[in-house]
Amino acid sequence: MREDLNKYYRLCRLCPNMCLVDRLSGQLGICGESDTMRIAWMGLHKGEEPPLTKEHGSGTIFFSGCPLHCRYCQNHQISRAGGEKPAIAVSEQALARLMIDLQYKGAANINLVTGTHYIPSIIAALEIARSIGLSIPIVWNSSGYESIEGLEAIDPFIDLYLIDAKTFDAKVAKDFCGTPRYVDHLDDMFSWLFSTHPVTYVDNHENLNGILIRHLLFPGTMDSTRQFLEWFAKRAKSHAWLSLMVQFVPPLQDHHFTEITQAEYDELLVILEKLEIDEGFVQELADNIPWIPDFSRDNPFPASFADPLEQFIAMKP
Ligand code: SF4
Repeated sequence: MREDLNKYYRLCRLCPNMCLVDRLSGQLGICGESDTMRIAWMGLHKGEEPPLTKEHGSGTIFFSGCPLHCRYCQNHQISRAGGEKPAIAVSEQALARLMIDLQYKGAANINLVTGTHYIPSIIAALEIARSIGLSIPIVWNSSGYESIEGLEAIDPFIDLYLIDAKTFDAKVAKDFCGTPRYVDHLDDMFSWLFSTHPVTYVDNHENLNGILIRHLLFPGTMDSTRQFLEWFAKRAKSHAWLSLMVQFVPPLQDHHFTEITQAEYDELLVILEKLEIDEGFVQELADNIPWIPDFSRDNPFPASFADPLEQFIAMKP
């Protein structure tokens, strides 16, 4: 990899954890990954928002590891630090080729899920992929837990930011996301995004572009969601669209959590109307089917939701 990209792995500060470890020499930070890019799954995914899914599905790439360790994470098999994970090491050249395979398979876009800690390798792969014909939009699908330096590096390659805003409440962040630091970072991150992407969300046949902010309703924390929606109405509405999700699945063996209730959902709709937030997507509560992906399988999702990329499956040992 180019030296100017390697520098991000040396004294790593790609996310607000600022571990300052040398991942080039194999040291691990909180994300639990060295500079060897590992991928857990690739394929067409039809469970994303309609503009991402389009006719054949979003060309989704799930990276292994994560700088946040949310207690409720549905992808905990691949996001937790340490331990064996169902993922394989993929070179930048191989990832570029696999992106082309996704495009050939009919993917509407390349959907990079939690690539925060692999930004340098992803940049190198995208440069190669573009040089060999990748032309579909690139989606940065993330928790928003990147440092501004990390975002500045990946930004020239991204068409659509599909980015989480989990909470602005430090206690909720500590309970659900494992760190109150998440909240401190959120406002800075969105200020940077809105200042560098002043044009609002665009989706037409030629273009998929802008910022789509995802918020997942946590059970029993409506005040936090109201706080987020008030922030969205005031600060974000002119820059981004909203995607409100209610697919919270209580983690197994953690009785701290419950499911979203109909009363909470109804209250959510009233708040949206009151704040005149009317552009974006609101998941139906009835769509909240309580399943958790199993990344030890070739297709971790229900068959109607996803179609694995054969070339990636063939690379598994
Ligand atoms: S990506 Fe974040 S969590 Fe991982 S080593 Fe770098 S600073 Fe630490």
